[in-house]
Formats: sequence, structure tokens, C-alpha cells
Amino acid sequence: MIEPSMIPANRLNFSGGPGALPESVLQQIQQAIAVVPETGLSILGISHRSDWFAAVVREAEDNIRSLLGLGADYHVLFLQGGATQQFAMVPLTLLHNRSEPAEYIHSGYWSGKAIAEASRSGAIKVVWSGAADHFSRLPQADELDLSPAAPYFHYISNETVEGLQFRQPMGLDAVPRVCDMSSDFLSRPSEAERFSLIYAHAQKNLGPAGVTVVVVRDSLLQNSPTHLPAFLDYHSHIKAHSNYNTPPVFAIYVVLLVTRWLLRDIGGVGNMARINQAKAALLYGLLDQSEGFYRGHADPADRSLMNVAFNLASPEMEKRFLADALAAGFHGLAGHRSLGGIRASLYNAVTLSAVEELAQFMTDFRKQHIANN
Ligand SMILES: *Cc1c(COP(=O)(O)O)cnc(C)c1O
Repeated sequence: MIEPSMIPANRLNFSGGPGALPESVLQQIQQAIAVVPETGLSILGISHRSDWFAAVVREAEDNIRSLLGLGADYHVLFLQGGATQQFAMVPLTLLHNRSEPAEYIHSGYWSGKAIAEASRSGAIKVVWSGAADHFSRLPQADELDLSPAAPYFHYISNETVEGLQFRQPMGLDAVPRVCDMSSDFLSRPSEAERFSLIYAHAQKNLGPAGVTVVVVRDSLLQNSPTHLPAFLDYHSHIKAHSNYNTPPVFAIYVVLLVTRWLLRDIGGVGNMARINQAKAALLYGLLDQSEGFYRGHADPADRSLMNVAFNLASPEMEKRFLADALAAGFHGLAGHRSLGGIRASLYNAVTLSAVEELAQFMTDFRKQHIANN
């Protein structure tokens, strides 16, 4: 058993995911696990067929519509299976009866997973790969040779492992844009109406694991196949208002609380973006001024505001850094197992003051090391 006294109080969470949640949301969750005031029941025991839950889904959907500025021609769905299920549902739906390949950007670990999964369902073409550069940069729009006949164009707005983020929508307006925004959804204005389908699981920027938000333009699904298992058919979930089978009631409720927080406490995605920029600028500034002590992974032009990936001089130094950081109360800084190194994830709920504390720790760690050598 873990003794509570062994865990430092107020550990700051820089985990790559599941990530930090806003303090005020965590307090409301504590209350809701005991009892949701309007219902007299614990959130963990409320029927998904209750009027209360239908209202939760409606408000969460409305909040996402208003945060993204979506018109009535979009559906907002709460699905299960994570981003990984969308890696499959997208090609299963959109490659049916199509001979032209869908086009994918291979910009890092997660787009590699999306490409491998899509290849199982039909023809796809990788229009750009960053593999030769160890996924340290993203393509410029003019590096992509795109076909206007492609059934759709897929990319990942923020490569969570490598810390690469596109600055604006990629692709041709004539081809449906499909984007995995799992790790930067609602972190900044995103011109959502230029996309035909956006998916984002909750556990990085939006809530706990268990629910995935899908935003899809109605016209994209007009010719979708009818032979798919009903659970993998977007139409089943549209018709059932995201209540086709028992949905993750708790996770959807937390998404509602987080979207309320974004609207009411933060004041929308524009304000969120300004806070996120300040957080990232602090750490990247520190990397750049460290005279090579901290070495950023991403090309400065493509650096992610959400995931700051970097290395130290040796794996031993990185181990030392991680151990000291943990002892000082900073959690979740180990890089993804595929890349190693260090990664500080600065999702929406990570506060500027938490990042200031981390920056101070990094400054002190460097000074200490220089003094010892
Ligand atoms: C974490 C991550 C995934 C994996 O999502 P699951 O919900 O675990 O399937 C997919 N895409 C991106 C961009 C991610 O960051």
C-alpha cells in the first residue's frame, strides 16, 4: 500500500496523458462522486437514459460548438475507443468504394499509427514523411503534392511525442480535411469549419480517458457504407445522440465541466491560446538560452505549444534530471517510450505558475550541474 505521506503534496503534473485537469474541475468531480446536487445520486450511478444525462450531453455539445464556432451542418459526437478507433473508423467510412488513395502526412509517432491502421482498410498515400529527419520538423504547405481527387486528407495537428504542431490548417480546400487533434483540441482557435472531420480523445486536453469527441460535417457521411458493424457507423451514434449503448457517463460529465471552465473561467479558446503561448515561451526561451544544456527536439518553427520535448547531454544526465524533478514534485516529465529524453506537456489545465516553477527548477538544475563540473 502507498502511504499518503510518501507522496509529496501538490505534485505538478506535466504528463503526456492522461494529463492534468483544472483544479476547480477536480473539486467539482469530488463533489459529484459523492452526490450530484440536482439528482441526489453519485455521478458513478446515474442512468445514461436519465433526462439529467441527456442535458449533460446537450450542454457539452453546445459548449464545443460555441468554443469552435461550428454551424448546424456539423454533428458533435461523444464516442469510445479513443483516437485509435478513429484511426480505423475514418478509412472504413471514407474509403468505401473509392479507388483513389486517401492522403496522409507522416509527421511522427501518432501519424505513423494512423497510417498503419488506415492501410488495413484501403488505399492510402503518404504525401510527406519526416522520418529521415527523425520527425524533428513539419512540412511547409508547398512541400506537399496533393491530389484534388483524394477521398480525404489526414494529418495530426499536434504530434504529441515529438512536440511538433502545425500553425495553420494544411491541405486543399477541395478535399475533405480530417484531423486528429487529440493533444491540442480547444487549446487555440482552429478554424474548425475548414475541416470535415476532427477527432480528439479527452485524456490530454479535455477530461479523463474513456471518451473521444468527433466533430463531423453532415455531408461527409452522405455516401458512407451501410455494411459496417453498427457500433463503427457514425450514423448509429448520430441517431442516438451519442447514447447508442451505455456511454462513459462520468467521462462525458467531466468534459462538460472542462468546457464550462474554458468558456466561463478562461473566456474561450483565444484567451486559452494566449496563456498557452506564454507557458511554452517560458520553456523554449529557457532551452534556447541554456547554451546547449537543454536541447530541444523540434525545429523552432514547428515547436508545439503543448509538448516541449528535449534532451540533455546523456541518458545518465536525463535520468538524474528526472529523479531530481520527481523529488522536487514535478511529475510526468519522462519522454514517450518511443523517443526517450524529456517531455514537458503543457496542456490547457497546466497553469502558468506551474510552468514557472518548472522553469525555476530547470534553471537551478543547470546551475548546479555547471558548478559541479
Ligand atoms: C495519445 C494520442 C493518441 C492515442 O490515443 P488513444 O486514445 O490512446 O487511442 C492518438 N493521437 C494522438 C495525437 C495522441 O496524442
